[in-house]
Amino acid sequence: MTSLWLDTAAPLETDAFEPDATVDEVVVGAGLTGLVTALLLARAGRRVTVLEARTVGAATTGNTTAKLSQLQGTQLSKVLTATYPAVMRAYAEGNSAAFDWMTVYLRESGVPFDRRDAVTYAATADGAAAVLHEGRLAASTGLDVRVVADAGLPFRTYGAVVLQDQAQFDPLDVLGALVADIRALGGRVVEGARVTAVRASAPARVTTPLGDVHADHVVLATGTPILDRGLYFVKTHAHRSYAQSFRLPSGDLPDGMFIGVESPTRSIRTFGDLLLTGGNGHGVGRHDSPRRAAQELTDWTMQHWPGAELDHSWAAQDYIAPHHVPFVGFLPRGRRRILLATGFDKWGMTNGVATAMTLAADLLGGHEPWMRALRHRITTPRALASGIGENAAVGWWYAKGYVRTLSRPLPATPPAEGEGATGRRRMLPAGISTVDGATCAVSTVCPHLFAALSWNDGEKSWDCPAHGSRFAADGTRLEGPAKRDLRRVE
Ligand SMILES: Cc1cc2nc3c(=O)[nH]c(=O)nc-3n(C[C@H](O)[C@H](O)[C@H](O)COP(=O)(O)OP(=O)(O)OC[C@H]3O[C@@H](n4cnc5c(N)ncnc54)[C@H](O)[C@@H]3O)c2cc1C
Repeated sequence: MTSLWLDTAAPLETDAFEPDATVDEVVVGAGLTGLVTALLLARAGRRVTVLEARTVGAATTGNTTAKLSQLQGTQLSKVLTATYPAVMRAYAEGNSAAFDWMTVYLRESGVPFDRRDAVTYAATADGAAAVLHEGRLAASTGLDVRVVADAGLPFRTYGAVVLQDQAQFDPLDVLGALVADIRALGGRVVEGARVTAVRASAPARVTTPLGDVHADHVVLATGTPILDRGLYFVKTHAHRSYAQSFRLPSGDLPDGMFIGVESPTRSIRTFGDLLLTGGNGHGVGRHDSPRRAAQELTDWTMQHWPGAELDHSWAAQDYIAPHHVPFVGFLPRGRRRILLATGFDKWGMTNGVATAMTLAADLLGGHEPWMRALRHRITTPRALASGIGENAAVGWWYAKGYVRTLSRPLPATPPAEGEGATGRRRMLPAGISTVDGATCAVSTVCPHLFAALSWNDGEKSWDCPAHGSRFAADGTRLEGPAKRDLRRVE
């Protein structure tokens, strides 16, 4: 399940960990948000170290579909439903500023990218009204959109809204350029340095298994913040979705970047002579067979592009706030030393950059009005209700996970290759799996807040249905708010 981007990325030069170093800022996480933040700070003369637990782009940015667009499905409609017109306008302005920053950066750094029209389409007659509504909202924020009757896809569509001249790229090209630029300015980018604790002392202390680093400020650009202060794991929910690349026998590729308004989401773009499709998302750990969810996306693609040959298939997750606007700024009770950005709702190519710009303004000064408006947003009762609904769902998943796991003993015999099973072991949830010939038994109690984990039969991982932490079959932490690995059991 390695993404097309990670599978074909050129090797990156990074730095060794320097124990007990003191810098101006530590940025935790080398995805798009962390690296853009680090570059903006390094350009202002700050001494910056980026600490990445795995490798550059290993989590969401290396597994995205990398459409850079100001027209984002029905995102403006969602933001408006959950907030107010001024917030929606600020959201659009922030995303446009990020779009402009990114296109200038791509051009100046020589990163290849294609200009493409972004298209939000309806695949059903019922979806047509949502398309028109989004078109009206986009026009009201100043975007030069047009409405067309047909999206130009190989299946029937019921109207579409189009924004010209958006962009698509290989996200690992962008991350590679950012790493090189940060290092050229004297910054350091360290892979394999998992941050396990941050103390908001003066200076702040950042702890990793390799040693500590000290800094005036620490930016958590870790997808979801790895510190529980501020309860962002409760304020957002983790949503996983699938992406696949295909070779087409005809080479007849769609001309644009498309996303449907219906559920399940269907997202379409191209890369060279490949067709990319994406979607079929669900809450992390909440699908009974992620392998089947990926297969459904393959089946849908092959139905509409007959003869398409699967090239790569992968999955990733992003974090969704009830008001669909990112959280960004100083972490509560972080003594103005710790900052965070999260909640990009699968539109992080712009929102990651917009929040990086906001974080840089927090530390260097120079706030734009849209930054203030987004920070001081007021949430509607409807968005609050959606947050409450999600937290009720989390409670239900806690109960379901424990009841399901404790109702049977952990199997005594190893599962077949690629399979995993859960059961009780000494009255606690445990799991056993066989992956690449190795059988591992682990505690399936999430080390974050103790929910019972589910087996992901597509990616061969243990996934938390409560707050989205994920672990490899051998228990190694992959992503999410958990900071520790799973305990191995006999
Ligand atoms: C399937 C999918 C498709 C998408 N398609 C699009 C799209 O077409 N257009 C768009 O705009 N957006 C898209 N998005 C959203 C976008 O990809 C994300 O919002 C964005 O990549 C998030 O970037 P990030 O840097 O915040 O997070 P990440 O890229 O996840 O970076 C966080 C980094 O922090 C590291 N980390 C975590 N914990 C620690 C720790 N304790 N110590 C050190 N490091 C740590 C992780 O290993 C990771 O590398 C998509 C999302 C998904 C899931």
